[in-house]
Amino acid sequence: MHGERHRTDRIGWLRAAVLGANDGLISTGSLVVGVASAGAQETAVLLAAVAGLVSGALSMAAGEYVSVSSQADTERADLAKERRELATYPEAERIELIRIYTGRGLSPDVATQVADQLTAKDALGTHAREELGIHETMQARPLQAAVASAASFALGATPPTLLAAILPARMLTLGVVGVSLGLLLVLGGVAASLGGASIPRGALRVGGWGAAAMGVTAVAGKIFGAVV
Ligand SMILES: [Zn+2]
Repeated sequence: MHGERHRTDRIGWLRAAVLGANDGLISTGSLVVGVASAGAQETAVLLAAVAGLVSGALSMAAGEYVSVSSQADTERADLAKERRELATYPEAERIELIRIYTGRGLSPDVATQVADQLTAKDALGTHAREELGIHETMQARPLQAAVASAASFALGATPPTLLAAILPARMLTLGVVGVSLGLLLVLGGVAASLGGASIPRGALRVGGWGAAAMGVTAVAGKIFGAVV
């Protein structure tokens, strides 16, 4: 019985959601801390938080849509080219496939058998896998990916925004830094455990970046707040 468990291909969407929430927390938490450090009024801090939540979520959606669409376009174009080549130069494609298998260590005889049998079964699928690294048609759904990453960013941005709405100005920086860092440690740990990696290391990595982002933004807010 082979009991080993691999998790690299598991719950990818959940990891993406956790990463989106990380982004929302770090960017909106830093924004609130930065604007509050500049000595802005409570309403101005809240406005900045809401604007940061909306603009961040939309920017994530746009980025994800473009990235998933262009990835799908590239795959489609590669597959079309491969299909044309298979139809036009079947022998050249056969030799190409045999070379790939001999390059991976098969003897020429075995490589030829493997290439011919796989070509007979599914020529395009075989070339897509071995040459292009495309395993299954990914069925990329750009709109779904865009909505998912906007939603996870907004979810992460919600705690600092809520704190900006309810906390008085003198408690705001401490409250936002504390809550955001706590949540980032949890999210970092969750992401690490989903990937089967060390939980403390994952938590500290995310928490460390969050602390650095909020610290730098606080300093920037203080400096510009004094100048403006
Ligand atoms: Zn080919």
